[in-house]
Amino acid sequence: MRFPLADGTRLALSGSVRRIAIPQRPGAYPSPRFREEAPGRFAVQGLRKPADAGAMDAWQTGLPSLRPAMGRAVRRARHLGVARHCSVCSARVRAFARFGDPEREDARCPVCHSLERHRLAWLFLERCTPLFDGRRRELLHFAPEPVFAERLRRIPGVQHLGVDLADPRADLRLDITRLPFADGERDVIFCSHVLEHVPDDRKALRELARVLEPSSGWMILQVPLRDAPTDEDPTVTDPAERTRRFGQSDHVRVYGWDFTARLRAAGFDVAEIHARRWLGARDAARYGLADEALFYCTRTPDDA
Ligand SMILES: [Zn+2]
Repeated sequence: MRFPLADGTRLALSGSVRRIAIPQRPGAYPSPRFREEAPGRFAVQGLRKPADAGAMDAWQTGLPSLRPAMGRAVRRARHLGVARHCSVCSARVRAFARFGDPEREDARCPVCHSLERHRLAWLFLERCTPLFDGRRRELLHFAPEPVFAERLRRIPGVQHLGVDLADPRADLRLDITRLPFADGERDVIFCSHVLEHVPDDRKALRELARVLEPSSGWMILQVPLRDAPTDEDPTVTDPAERTRRFGQSDHVRVYGWDFTARLRAAGFDVAEIHARRWLGARDAARYGLADEALFYCTRTPDDA
């Protein structure tokens, strides 16, 4: 499989690449109400925490739950259409819902609740990486979104480890700037919308480069981006000012396309994947991807 890079060249990826049908399975995003009701149950160290209401049913009763599947089936029927296609849950719907603050058009899948970044990442994983070839891989997933983590866990061969600084639903709580892993220990890293929260993101990137397997390992990174140079200022701590400048009260910066240079400085070879350039305008619109982008990174060879 070859895919276009930002500089107009094309990058060949090693390993077998194929499309697979994604089996329908539970994995509904927990509702805010459910998350409020159940946090105490998740705070048990060492247990795999149920990621959604259906998994909680199974956890409590030992029997599979029909709740998420039924909810999804109802939403699938209610939103059925041809204009939009969700790459995460395979639903074909009339439209994606508005979402965010400020609201974005065409953002959220009404069936599985995936956002633009999830749909681009899943499409890229399916079409351009060897993740589905059944080989055993250690996958390190930062800030594991339920919509994604459940699906990644079910890929044959994938040993999924969800980590987060604070979220009790993660398998492990850790600091991205001090990873408790040996050099080159992780085959795949997925890190989406994390670094804009991290004060020393350069240190975090060096840690990611250190733990990534150097010859065949790869990483997918996503950050909020804008068409201007990266804006960061550690003295800005007022939540309202952070929202105004960086887009969210707990963001410490907003990245521009110079983010690529920051990745290269940390020891990565980088391919910028722009949804519209990669898929074409028509397919990008069909998957509701707008201006979404991701960064595909491998370790820069030592002799480079
Ligand atoms: Zn969906």
